[in-house]
Amino acid sequence: MKNRLDYLKEMNIDTRWLDRSFNNGCSSDIEKNSLTSLKNEVSECSKCMLASTRDKIVFGSGNLNSKLMIIGEAPGKDEDLMGEPFVGRAGKLLDEILFSMGVTRESVYITNTVKCRPPQNRNPLLEEIESCSDYLNKQIESINPSIIILLGKVAANRMLGIEESMSKLRQRIFNHESANTPMIVFYHPAYLLRSPSQKKHMWDDIKFTLEYIRENDCTIN
Ligand code: URA
Ligand code: SF4
Repeated sequence: MKNRLDYLKEMNIDTRWLDRSFNNGCSSDIEKNSLTSLKNEVSECSKCMLASTRDKIVFGSGNLNSKLMIIGEAPGKDEDLMGEPFVGRAGKLLDEILFSMGVTRESVYITNTVKCRPPQNRNPLLEEIESCSDYLNKQIESINPSIIILLGKVAANRMLGIEESMSKLRQRIFNHESANTPMIVFYHPAYLLRSPSQKKHMWDDIKFTLEYIRENDCTIN
């Protein structure tokens, strides 16, 4: 199996900057405590109908000081049972994507647009994402990332309030208005598992993102 440097070399990426890390931020204890109490609040939440079919809420996990935040679509079956994001097959591919960016799952913060599993893994509805958006916004505020990666067309379009194809969403910088944080859209790993021929585009998107990070010095120091 190729290692991270092989992937990066293939993409002609200068790897010297990798010595610098994504996780130099530092959330205060107050912010950490506020995320713990937010998680408790979410575990009791019944603001939308997903509450009635969930097993566990999937609040989010990772490094509370991370400068990189990943927002997926919604928990699936495995996540609902475990209460953790991206623990299934898509999660393994997400780990590889993160690895090729020079980070690990533990060093970033991962969550979803909704904290409860939609039945039969259907797409979350706009009203469900809206019901859950206060929680997500508080997480963004508390983590205070330098950059957010949105996974997949559904999460991206619903977060951005638009309706665009993946080809129009990729390799662009959007802005999370209330947090004033740049957002980049990646293919959802579950989509890449279904359409492996698209993986080559994923590497282009990673390269675009690494270049943006380097040019803007945005996650570093
Ligand atoms: N897909 C997602 O969008 N989120 C998860 O947590 C798992 C799979
Ligand atoms: Fe509450 Fe969000 Fe779960 Fe809906 S998806 S019940 S808003 S936590």
